[in-house]
Amino acid sequence: MSLMGWQALLAFPSMVEVSMDSFVHGHVLLIDVNVDLAGTSVRVAGPATLCYAPLVCKSEVERARSIIVKAVWDWHMPRENAKDERRLVEIAHDTGFDTLIIHNPTPVVMENAHRLGMQVCAIVIPNVTTEYTRNYPDAVQRMLPAENAIAEAVSGLDWEAYTAHAHRWFYPVQLSHLLCFESSQAQDELRARVSAALAVTDGVAFDGFGFRNHYACYCPRCQTLREEMAVQQAGRSSDHILAEMSEDSLVNLSHLLYEHAKGVKTNALITNHIWPPFRPNPDYASRLRLDYCSQTISWFYRPHWSLERVRFEAEQMKHLENPARNRFVPFIGLFDQPHLLRTPPRIAAEMTIALEYGAGSLVFCSLFTLWHNPEIRQVVQNALATDTIECIEKGLT
Ligand SMILES: [Zn+2]
Repeated sequence: MSLMGWQALLAFPSMVEVSMDSFVHGHVLLIDVNVDLAGTSVRVAGPATLCYAPLVCKSEVERARSIIVKAVWDWHMPRENAKDERRLVEIAHDTGFDTLIIHNPTPVVMENAHRLGMQVCAIVIPNVTTEYTRNYPDAVQRMLPAENAIAEAVSGLDWEAYTAHAHRWFYPVQLSHLLCFESSQAQDELRARVSAALAVTDGVAFDGFGFRNHYACYCPRCQTLREEMAVQQAGRSSDHILAEMSEDSLVNLSHLLYEHAKGVKTNALITNHIWPPFRPNPDYASRLRLDYCSQTISWFYRPHWSLERVRFEAEQMKHLENPARNRFVPFIGLFDQPHLLRTPPRIAAEMTIALEYGAGSLVFCSLFTLWHNPEIRQVVQNALATDTIECIEKGLT
């Protein structure tokens, strides 16, 4: 195997043949190396700290090249007729995206996307209507009475205006009813949503999978589960049990839906966007079972994160990535409202960071913003045309 960047990083002489098993966690390269030096095999194993290198060896580069995804989400493009839908697909394709993620993709969207070599994922959410909640209360998340009162109080706000004035970018509790992930009926409902989506599309993208209050469900079933945990784990504090049970609920559901989706369609693309925030452990996403886990490195709302923070977020998520569970893909959020837009040079810088830490993969949201802002669309298009993996390879030689 070629040494690629290893000789510089590990200071081996260039004639040394090295075989290795390795994986990279952010700045830490975990190595298990056999060095054959003048007929003597020397084994070196352990962590080595890198200055900066999300990708450092040939096998990583090859693996990254084979699983690149450049996806764009959209909720806001006009979709009144077939002409609108063709235009939506063509704009995504012409910008350089290979994957489109939207609600309810139609046969027109699918046909046009496949004609252009793109894949399409349907957004799958755990939201339910008030009628569903009335009919099947046991399948739906419950909050504390005080949290219900908060929901009631904030539901009367003009939320768009309030967010801009108060800089609160999401409700303290989610207003929409959500399925309880421990309910077998809710799990059946989610499996059915995945099956329905995959009957039309190439994959699914989970969005909104979290808790209305951002930390737990208080339905009788979830309460009982926690009481049983408290008996089994005597001495542990209630907050630890609450956090662990909620996190496991999110993680277990991801395994369940992943297995189901792959059973329905073996090559289905399973992805998501981490939302809403999970307060007990904001970094839980690396545990989810997915093909790609998109996590925000630059957020839609003000104050816009500094580029230093954007890099930090990407670095942190890459560091926590567990490729056995999912592959981290950086998510850049940009809405079209004038007070939320960022400049083309700024977006170009974010794209560079995203592609670097995503090893050529990224997720952008939303397509509508690019459609309405040609200068921003141009810098995104330029970035997507760059062969990030080739740049990384060049940097290694
Ligand atoms: Zn529950």
